[in-house]
Amino acid sequence: MANIDELKNTGLKATLPRLKILEIFQTGSQRHMTAEDVFRVLLNEHSDIGLATVYRVLTQFEAAGLVAKHNFEGGQAVYEIERGKHHDHMVDLDSGKVVEFVSEDIERLQREIADKHGYVIEEHSLVLYVRPKKTARRS
Ligand SMILES: [Zn+2]
Repeated sequence: MANIDELKNTGLKATLPRLKILEIFQTGSQRHMTAEDVFRVLLNEHSDIGLATVYRVLTQFEAAGLVAKHNFEGGQAVYEIERGKHHDHMVDLDSGKVVEFVSEDIERLQREIADKHGYVIEEHSLVLYVRPKKTARRS
């Protein structure tokens, strides 16, 4: 089961659906999940937690700062556990797979560009929409 203390620290009561959904994020192989991804895992485990509950719990988690919500283009909102560490994302347009990356060069360039315009960056998010490279076939 997920860490009950972690829930209590946010002021949320440790209900079964909350613990279960937190556990899926903490122990699952997929870091970025839509509400339907979470729901599918629950179904596989023969849980009776409904999709509406999943949406409600995720909204509560987001408000409590436990998960981050990303509204990537052309898809459903994607949730991930908030680790307080900045990273950017790539979204595979074919599979919907989300890839994380961090580039110090990009971070620095963004600060320089903002600086040139007389600003400091408060927050940024960078999303690359990508497709898998076609591997050249030898004939
Ligand atoms: Zn991420």
